[in-house]
Amino acid sequence: MLSVMAQVLVVEDEEDIAFPLVRTLQREGYDVTWLDSGREALSHLQSNVADIMILDLGLPDMDGLDVCRAARDGGYEGGIMIVTARAGELDRVVGLDFGADDYLSKPFGLAELQARVRALLRRSQARSSKTPEPEEQTSVGLHIDIGSRRVTMDEAEVALTAKEFDVLALLIAHRDKVVSREQLMSEVWDENWFGSTKTLDVTIGRLRNKLEEAGVSDRVVAIRGVGFRLESGE
Ligand code: CA
Repeated sequence: MLSVMAQVLVVEDEEDIAFPLVRTLQREGYDVTWLDSGREALSHLQSNVADIMILDLGLPDMDGLDVCRAARDGGYEGGIMIVTARAGELDRVVGLDFGADDYLSKPFGLAELQARVRALLRRSQARSSKTPEPEEQTSVGLHIDIGSRRVTMDEAEVALTAKEFDVLALLIAHRDKVVSREQLMSEVWDENWFGSTKTLDVTIGRLRNKLEEAGVSDRVVAIRGVGFRLESGE
C-alpha cells in the first residue's frame, strides 16, 4: 500500500567517516545498515535487501573491488557506489569494470553524497521496475516518496515540515508496530538527545491534524508510555 524506506548498506571501516554518513542517510529517510568489513557485507547481501551499497575500497579484510565483484557474481543487482581515499587510483578503477555504478573520492561533502545516493536510487529503481514498485500499484490513498520527500493523499500534496515528514516516514516504515519515543527522538532529532519529548508531541499533533485535514484514514495512535503506531484506517 505504501512505499517502504529505501535500504542502504554502508560498508566502511572508519568510524569518523561512517558515523556522519549513516546519520545523514538516516535523516534523509533511508533505512541504513552499517558494516565494517567486506565479508560481513557479502554475507549480509545473501539474506537481506539493499537497494544500494556504499562501499569503501580500503576495508580491513578485503579489497573493496573484490567485494564489488563478488556481490555482482552473487547476483546482487542493487546500485553500488564506490568510495575511496585512493584518489589517484580512481581513474584506473573506473576504467576497469567491477560492476560499480558510481564513484566518489574522499573526502566528500555530505550534500554531494546525498545527491549521488538519490540519483543512484532512481536509476536502480528504474532498472528493477520490470516488477512494479508497491507504491505504483495504488494510485489513491496516502503515498510517501522518500526520494523527493513528498507526501500525497489521492495525488494531492500534503505539505509537511521536515520533522513531520521524518516522523511520518519512520512510522510508515514500521506500520502497525510501535515506534518508541526514544527511537523517534534519536532518529528525527538528535542521537544525543535527552530531556523533554514535548517537541515530539507537538510535531505528532500537527502531523495528525494535517493528515486528518487531507482525508487520510490512517491514524497515528499514541501508546502510552511507549511511543506511537501508525494504524491503517477502514
Ligand atoms: Ca577504509
